[in-house]
Amino acid sequence: MNPIELYKKLPKKNCGKCPQKACMPFALSVIKGDAELSECPCLTEKEIEALKGAIKKSDWREELIAKLRDEIKGIDFADIAEGIGADLKDGALIIKCMGREFVISPEGEITTRGHMTPWIKILLLHYIRTEGKGPLSGKWVSYAELKAGMIKASSFQRDCEEPLRELFDKNFEGTITVLNRLGAERREDFPAKQAWHLFLLPKIPVIILYWPKEEEFESKVKIIFDSTSDRFLDAESIIFLVEGLVKNIEITLSRVAGANFS
Ligand code: SF4
Repeated sequence: MNPIELYKKLPKKNCGKCPQKACMPFALSVIKGDAELSECPCLTEKEIEALKGAIKKSDWREELIAKLRDEIKGIDFADIAEGIGADLKDGALIIKCMGREFVISPEGEITTRGHMTPWIKILLLHYIRTEGKGPLSGKWVSYAELKAGMIKASSFQRDCEEPLRELFDKNFEGTITVLNRLGAERREDFPAKQAWHLFLLPKIPVIILYWPKEEEFESKVKIIFDSTSDRFLDAESIIFLVEGLVKNIEITLSRVAGANFS
């Protein structure tokens, strides 16, 4: 099901009661996995269940999740847990991602407290499947310096750094508050007005650097990585991971704004 098809099945009241404030952006968010149908108070439980079934049936992400689950079934979690910075409990991996703990069973079933999107499932399964190992280097590099990063550097800037810069520019305090909640810590040892250290995954720490607009200089965001990051995720998945962080901040800010407004 695509966003238009879902939109046609929504109440189309544009009542503004969901975080996206209108039916079309709501449909888009649901299809992208950033919102839940239950966030529209105008849908009945029966309608939600019927729509969920229709979305799932045609969802390429669910197909990818099923494929990745199959791939990780052959991996011995005890062999890889330490390498990827996970804990092992009762045969399951426990992985911390942006301040939250996720439990992954040997069959690839993922559980956590609260809402979970297909995006996070795909990332975690990719992270496990990569079977990275080795200590962090403590050496920070740009995205372009990671393996295959040069080819995708412009996508990284467009889809990750630019949207994050806009969030900082629009709502600096709010963005910092969300970063703090995700476990980010302020750093003073980088040449930027604002520098934040955050573990996106146990072996993928990042430093987020922000320079606010100053006189003739435009504001800027730069995200740098430990030089070993490409051992734990490929360049494309790293974009996917950071995009998820930005989306997470954006959704949290719009929810807070909605709550303050209502
Ligand atoms: S709450 Fe439901 S009906 Fe209202 S704008 Fe959002 S999607 Fe549309």
